[in-house]
Amino acid sequence: MESLTYLQQQLAQYQQREAELEKSEARLRMAIASANLGTWDYKPLTGELTWSDECKHLYGLPPEAEIDFELFTEHIYPADRDALECAMKKAMDPLGDHSYDMTYRIIRFDKPEIRWLRAQGKVYFNKLQEPERFIGTIVDQTEAKLAEEKSAKLTAIVESSDDAIISKTLEGIITSWNPAAEHLLGYTEKDVIGKHITMLIPEDRLEEEDLILERIRNNKKVEHYVTFRVTKAGLEIPVSISVSPIRDNTGRVIGAAKIIRNNAHQKETEARLLRYAENLEVLNALGKIISERMDVSEILQKVTDATTRLIGAAFGAFFYNDESEAGESYMLFALSGAPREAFERFGIPRNTAVFHPTFTGEAIVRADDITKDPRYGHNSPFFGMPEGHLQVVSYLAVPVISKSGTVIGGLFYGHPEAAKFTREHEQLVSGVATQAAIALDNTKLYEEIRKLNDKKEEFIGLASHELKTPVTSLSGYLQILNRTLPDTDRNKPFLQKALLQVKKLSELISDLLDVSKIETGQLPLSFSNFNITQIVQETIELIQYSTKTHQIILQQPEQEIIISADKQRIEQVIVNLLSNAIKYSPNEKLVNVAIAVTPDKVRVSVEDYGMGIQKEHQERIFSRFYRVEELASHISGLGIGLYISKEIISRHHGKLWLNSEPEKGSTFFFEIPLNI
Ligand code: ADP
Repeated sequence: MESLTYLQQQLAQYQQREAELEKSEARLRMAIASANLGTWDYKPLTGELTWSDECKHLYGLPPEAEIDFELFTEHIYPADRDALECAMKKAMDPLGDHSYDMTYRIIRFDKPEIRWLRAQGKVYFNKLQEPERFIGTIVDQTEAKLAEEKSAKLTAIVESSDDAIISKTLEGIITSWNPAAEHLLGYTEKDVIGKHITMLIPEDRLEEEDLILERIRNNKKVEHYVTFRVTKAGLEIPVSISVSPIRDNTGRVIGAAKIIRNNAHQKETEARLLRYAENLEVLNALGKIISERMDVSEILQKVTDATTRLIGAAFGAFFYNDESEAGESYMLFALSGAPREAFERFGIPRNTAVFHPTFTGEAIVRADDITKDPRYGHNSPFFGMPEGHLQVVSYLAVPVISKSGTVIGGLFYGHPEAAKFTREHEQLVSGVATQAAIALDNTKLYEEIRKLNDKKEEFIGLASHELKTPVTSLSGYLQILNRTLPDTDRNKPFLQKALLQVKKLSELISDLLDVSKIETGQLPLSFSNFNITQIVQETIELIQYSTKTHQIILQQPEQEIIISADKQRIEQVIVNLLSNAIKYSPNEKLVNVAIAVTPDKVRVSVEDYGMGIQKEHQERIFSRFYRVEELASHISGLGIGLYISKEIISRHHGKLWLNSEPEKGSTFFFEIPLNI
């Protein structure tokens, strides 16, 4: 009886346990179902494998599908097979802890898709310590794994970025800080995490942060906002900021990610570009001045001014290498940025060691602090300058060397602060110096030529003046002799020849004198009214009288043509044109002269059929001493007749020109207004 009661009690207990177990199993099933867990049951001794529907679903199998261990291993991602096998073996080791936890990849049965699964399980052993059952759960980890990968990638990007990347909460508390942020702003991660972002913002810009956070709360971005931020050292640096909202997986904005880019570099590039553009402009303008101007002092002043400005020197100067005196000596030629007295009051030093390399053309001297240069002695040009006046610390000196190698002088620059001149400045000035040297060379040549020309002019004027008086007396005496000698005298023909030559000589002299007068603007004209036809006729007669080779034919209008002009000078022009026509058509017999009149002008033309003039010479034959060499070399002349004629005609407000064809002949025309 007692034993029955015992049994009944046992049964009741057992039933209660059963009921509890059932309850907990039901709870487990519910938990498994709600957690989307798949379950599996593997019997290692028989090789039998069963999967729950959820498990099959994860592998891409329908619920009715059969599964075995072989099929299962086939669908393990090949790279993960060994690790999985190893973990299973370990779990089935009776001496181990019998547990199994493995994350691995599978290839789904239904499509070539890889999924990440996490399997957890336990191995149960029989009395013989053999693994009887291996059961466990399986859960899909693909999303989490991808998110993890993505975040690892993002972290790597953020860590390696050159831009400072910071994240903060909506309250402005810093939550992350990458190495570039440390590099840019000086704070370490430890310094800033948990602190408020305002620690990076200059005081006068604090309201910026409110505006930024306001935008972020409204889910809006801030892009390339140019501002300033403060570094750990308290320095304000130019930055450009972009801020994006950070959202959680429900889309709620929970913070902000901020990219801070150092703008200093960009600012510097912009400034550099601007500087280059300005420099280019100044250099172009300078190049133009240098090539156009022929005045030494102007070129030097402009070069000194522009270069001083370009390189930002406090003052600049050009010293001329004056070799005329014994030894080296320098002459201040142009000065920029300081008054001349500032230099002159202290005297221009000679032969100082600082100046030496420049005036010998040895090298450019550039010093960040010339006062520290051993060559800088007590007789330095800048030594002892009064405070605040031409204090030279930064120093740049560039020799200006002519093509022949002589040092024309040097360009000198100074600044009271140290390290003001760069290599770029040095190159800039030496470029300008080369250009200036060429211009100065040209100017020197030009000035030499001009001086020689002036001398020549002076000589011609003087010589013709001095020759005129004796030749006039000679002509006078010869005429007296001619009159007194009877025609029968056998010396009479010689005397007449002498008279003719003297006449030619005096004509030459008066032509030369005319050139001098034109040059000095002193060719006097005496106007009177006369009939030009008559003058043309008389001149032809005169020329024809001494010409046996050519016949001069005149075509003229009936009426008288009265002009107001210098009779002698007009006659001089006609004589010149007629003699040329005869001179330059040696094998011809005819010269045609024509007079034509319009209501307001008269035109005279002289036409020959001689050698003519090539196009390229046609303009130039009107300049002084110009002759067409190859044709005229055996024909006497000075090359000034047409120059004088042109001047005479233009002084009458008329013009002189020609038509000519080589080998065919030339026609010279002049035209004078009728009513001057
Ligand atoms: P010159 O005759 O003394 O040389 P001009 O001033 O009168 O000086 O003339 C300048 C040059 O023009 C001459 O040397 C000659 O080469 C050219 N010339 C002038 N007239 C003629 C012409 N009728 N035919 C060809 N060439 C001429």
